[in-house]
Amino acid sequence: MDMADGRVSVMVFTRDLRVRDNPALLAATSGPVIPLFVLDDAILSSRFACPNRIGFLVDSLHDLDASLRDRGGHLVVRRGRWGEEVLRAAHAVGATTVHVADDVSDFARRRADTLVAEAKAAGIEVHRHPGLTVVPSGSVTPAASNLYQVFTPYHRAWLAAAWRSAVSAPQEVAVPDGIAGVAIPAPAALVDGAPSPEVAPGGEGPARARLDTWVPRDLARYADRHDDLPGDATSRISPYLHFGCISPLEVANRLRSHEGGDALVRQLCWRDFYHQVLAARPDAAWRDFKDRGDTWHDDPEGLAAWKDGRTGYPVVDAGMRQLRREGFVHNRARMIVASFLTKDLLIDWREGAAHFLDWLVDGDLANNNLNWQWTAGTGTDANPHRVFNPTRQGLRFDPRGDYVRRYVPELASVDGKAVHDPDAETRARLGYPPPIVDHAEAIAEFKAIRSRS
Ligand code: FAD
Repeated sequence: MDMADGRVSVMVFTRDLRVRDNPALLAATSGPVIPLFVLDDAILSSRFACPNRIGFLVDSLHDLDASLRDRGGHLVVRRGRWGEEVLRAAHAVGATTVHVADDVSDFARRRADTLVAEAKAAGIEVHRHPGLTVVPSGSVTPAASNLYQVFTPYHRAWLAAAWRSAVSAPQEVAVPDGIAGVAIPAPAALVDGAPSPEVAPGGEGPARARLDTWVPRDLARYADRHDDLPGDATSRISPYLHFGCISPLEVANRLRSHEGGDALVRQLCWRDFYHQVLAARPDAAWRDFKDRGDTWHDDPEGLAAWKDGRTGYPVVDAGMRQLRREGFVHNRARMIVASFLTKDLLIDWREGAAHFLDWLVDGDLANNNLNWQWTAGTGTDANPHRVFNPTRQGLRFDPRGDYVRRYVPELASVDGKAVHDPDAETRARLGYPPPIVDHAEAIAEFKAIRSRS
């Protein structure tokens, strides 16, 4: 193939690691293409490169490479400064066009903006494509603002909006000869530390397999069972959505017509909702969306007990240990542990959000940090005084105690719902700590602080 052919383009994968419903890839493959993934040094040296996500990323790159090979191409992997590597690849083949998916975080947007400017100076055009969310962030807005701050009207407008049509996978991927890349590295070559023992496998193949198993088995009962902690009946597709191994639009289109699909599609709308908040307010990743004038406790011991799942509140500890074991936590448990950190321990939500990002495979700024803000009462939730009683939450969503026993082995011998509040003698005998704080006292303090705001 003629390397100097002006029709050659570069397709830069970011977190759209799929061949199906990938508008950037389809546009790029109308001619010869370099399908490129750059291991960005800026990300690899940041907290976003945790062992759980790097392992999942490496799986996903292998899966993507295999899909491209099925179509006659392959993935070109490079490592270095992202924009420089993209332009280096473009220059190597005389490409005049680069295709990339749009993203919403401050980092991703600056990175893409810089690429656009530098490419322009070199006579290369950068095309930015949708695909990260069902509806592009910023395309559904209220009359007088650039974002919806309240979910319900957003949901209504989102359902009524014209969704783009999903695109098919390219049939052929023609890669010019002689483009050098590196072999996909092993995770240990990219990041120190061991991943959680039970992380799900990454990639478009596993994403589709997961959905194919889950939809016929669980979708119809999703609305009734999504809060059932031991039932573990949610889709667990969040890591695949985070890395773009599956298109949120494709999932929403597919499930919309199924019995029970509306409830799941509504959750996908929450994902879009937080993405549009972050797109309009990039500072909300780490700054209070609504400043409540909070003063948080500096409590390293409390924070360490929370991280280690040793707070003495069994359902909290189960959630925190699920995080370490699987790199995933049930949504109800995420709410319980986040509420506990911020309202019982009065520790800054940023500490919790950062710890989640260190472990969650699906960890991303939009969904993680804005859900943390929602739970802390600094975010889009209109009620800053909302409080969860951890023991009552446990009794309600894990009524027989199976979730706690699954993740807190010291308590495995405590039968039934008693596991949610073992007596002092049982705790001492089993080596399980007493409650780290008195819930009623802690909440009285939290309410006093908030009522001053
Ligand atoms: P399902 O119930 O099967 O839902 C399907 C999809 O809808 C999810 O995969 C997700 O993409 C989306 N979704 C569901 N609930 C929410 C929600 N509340 N907000 C936004 N999108 C949602 N989700 C992440 O993807 N990444 C995170 O880093 C993250 N951090 C969170 C931190 C806290 C403190 C809380 C309370 C929630 C967080 N969530 C996060 C949202 C939610 O907990 C997960 O998306 C969900 O548990 C993933 O499991 P699932 O795929 O089985 O979800």
